[in-house]
Order: sequence, then structure tokens, then C-alpha cells
Amino acid sequence: MPATANTPGLDAYWMPFTANRQFKAAPRLLAAAEGMHYQTPDGRTVLDGTAGLWCVNAGHGRREIATAVERQLTTLDFAPSFQMGHPLAFDFAERLAAVAPGGPEAGLDRVFFTGSGSESVDTALKIALAYQRAIGQGTRTRLIGRERGYHGVGFGGISVGGLVNNRRMFPLLPAVDHLRHTHDLDRNAFTKGQPAHGVELADDLERLVALHGAETIAACIVEPLAGSTGVLVPPVGYLERLREICTRHGILLVFDEVITGFGRLGAPFATDYFGVVPDLVTTAKGLTNGALPMGAVFAARRVHDALMHGPEAAIELFHGYTYSGHPAACAAGLATLDIYAREGLLTRAAALSTHWAEAVHGLRSAPHVIDIRTLGLVAGIELGSREGAPGARAYDVFVDCFERGLLVRVTGDIVALSPPLIVAAEEIDTMVSILGDALARVA
Ligand code: PLP
Repeated sequence: MPATANTPGLDAYWMPFTANRQFKAAPRLLAAAEGMHYQTPDGRTVLDGTAGLWCVNAGHGRREIATAVERQLTTLDFAPSFQMGHPLAFDFAERLAAVAPGGPEAGLDRVFFTGSGSESVDTALKIALAYQRAIGQGTRTRLIGRERGYHGVGFGGISVGGLVNNRRMFPLLPAVDHLRHTHDLDRNAFTKGQPAHGVELADDLERLVALHGAETIAACIVEPLAGSTGVLVPPVGYLERLREICTRHGILLVFDEVITGFGRLGAPFATDYFGVVPDLVTTAKGLTNGALPMGAVFAARRVHDALMHGPEAAIELFHGYTYSGHPAACAAGLATLDIYAREGLLTRAAALSTHWAEAVHGLRSAPHVIDIRTLGLVAGIELGSREGAPGARAYDVFVDCFERGLLVRVTGDIVALSPPLIVAAEEIDTMVSILGDALARVA
């Protein structure tokens, strides 16, 4: 096929993070969704094993969200977000502050709105830099990320991120370094929950402090549980140690909770689940149940207040987006919080996590499986790669599952599962059964 073959109706859309030519040769389309299921245009039902892209935590087609968005769009469709406000953005920020990561004691109750996870990450990194400057630590311009981290696709996010395909094509911010990742198949394979080994990997931050000097480091950003790289659960004690080292050296700790926020692990945030409080938390996805694009950064009041100085007429943080606090997205978010609260969804994964872990670990002896990792309602199932074709086996599993009515997500040769938090125990069993069959079928 020529590089730009003409497939009527499919050409114009340059698809994100997609092998465009491969996809357009055999498209997989989703046309409708309700509850736990998608429907294809030809009427097939597909069980959603991934909450869309880790975002539809309350399940699909929630009327309450649609109604709230419609009402908002017909009342106030848009209001400028710079030097102007609208009531819903303030309401939503207050509601979020009341359920902020870590609870009231953590003080992460100042909320900056963005349009996506990537924007939340770049916003948090900028807040960290601005904070250090505001407290007289302007030499702290270095950012620390972690190998295999995914922090979206902005230049800040890919610079602190550690997925090589996101990094090799583009120039990156210069003053960035990385902790080692925590994946350790030899010591931790087939762990349910947090792996026992690897706390010492947090000491990498001490190594980077010794290498660069604490006075050059503004912030360290990690996903508390790394999702996009294929589900890496932090070793016991790791996040606690990272917190201690950051505190000791005046480095802000940023948790990227774009995936873990809003109930994924069985607590409202990973911050709550692990009981480790960072200085900034990035969110998106589950914030609006995926219904409209939106992100939010939770900042410690101390960080926020440090910037509220100088002439009152001066803009304290020279940053923001046209769509920060978009009225329709705020309406979607408020309706989403109502559903989460009413249905107990921010903690429901805790009640299901034992069944989840048992069911998914039942694939331990399935063909090709070399590791399984589970926590809350997340699972990573790692497969041995085909000789000379990394990623090919998991891709075949993904296509096979889709054809048999299950949506999974794959990264390299790792299959990730993260269903909507409304999932029933029987639906978990169905997912595992379809996936097990697919593993048995692929070469
Ligand atoms: N941060 C993390 C941890 C993510 O998992 C993602 C997306 O998967 C992002 C940031 C980027 O979010 P978005 O695609 O909304 O820009």
C-alpha cells in the first residue's frame, strides 16, 4: 500500500498514538457506549476492560453528566478564563478542595484547571519552578522524573517522562534527570499489591542530589503507580522514602495522578491509598468521567500562598489556558463528583480488589505470561516477547480480545486492564476468560 493510500472516509483524520496505516487497513470503530459496554457500528458489544483510556470510572452514558453539560451549554457556553470568572469554576474548585488528595490535613486544596493530563503536568512543573523562585530558591531549575514514567506529551511532560519513544524524536528540556524505574522481574514477579523489593531505588534521588546539588533541583515527579508503561506498582516503602528525601532537600514532590486519581486504587487518590502526601498532584481523565476534556492540579496551600505576594495588580502565575475551568467541563465534573459520592465509587475498587487479584492472577500459567501485577482495579499482564518482534504478541492479543468482545490496552508486550469502577464480579471473570482464550490462541 502506498504511504498515503486513499481509504474513503478515513484519510483526513491523523490519529493520535496510532499506527495510522495499519489501523486504516483494518479499522476498529466504537460507535456507542452504555455502562460497562461499547457497541461497534455493526452492533457488536464490547466489554470495556480499560474504562476508555483509564478515564470512564463511573461507566459510560451517564445521563446526569449529559444533562448537566447541556444545561450549562445553554446557560453559559463559554466565559473568558483570564481576569474573568464564572460561578461553576469556583464551585467545582471548592468541591474538589473538599475531597482533595490526602484529606484536609494534607492541605492540597488550591486547584488550577487545565484541559488535559499533559497540561496538568506542564502546569505542575511550572508551578514548582515558580514556587522555588518565589521563596528565593531561583537556582532550583532542574526537574527529576523517572525511567518508564509517562507524563503526557507536552515538552515538560516528555522531558521528565521516561518512555523512550516519547523522547527520541523531540528535543527535550536540558535540566532534567531521571530516577531508575522500579520494575524488577527477578525479585517481584507475580506480586499481588505492592512488591516487597525495591525501596532502595528511592535512594536514586540522593544520588542525583549528590550529582547535581540540591540547590539546582526544583521538583521530582512520579506516577505513584506507573500506568502507561504497563502497570508498575511502587515497592513497599518506596514512596515514603522519596517523600523523606524530597523534604530533606527542599525538593517539591509531584504525584502524577492522571490515572490513579478518582478511585482507581480503591481510595479517592493514590495519595490516600499510600498515605504519602506530595506537594502537587496532577489529575485529568476521571475528573469528568472522560465526558469532556479537563484536568486539574491540586497544589499545597503553602505552595500557592508563596506565590500570592507582590503588587496585588500583578498576575502571580503567568500561566493558564483558554479552556481552564471551561463551564461545560466544570458542569461535567460536578455531576461526576455527585455520582462518585452517591455510588461510593471512589472506594469501590477496594471491595473488589481481592476478587480482581485472584481472577487476574489465575492467568499465571497461561501461555506467554511472565508476570502479573495487580492493585486496586488495575492489572498489568506481561508477556514474553516474540523473537525480534517486541510488542507484536500483545498487539495480537489486543486484536483477538477486541474481536471476541473485550477492550484491553497494550504497551509493548504488556496487557493492561483498568475497567470502569462499576464493574461487576462476573464481568471481571468474563474479562479474564476472554483474555485467557486470546493468550491461548496467539502464537
Ligand atoms: N500523566 C499520566 C500519568 C497519564 O497516564 C497520562 C495519560 O495517559 C497523561 C499524563 C496525559 O494525559 P492526557 O492524554 O490527557 O494529556
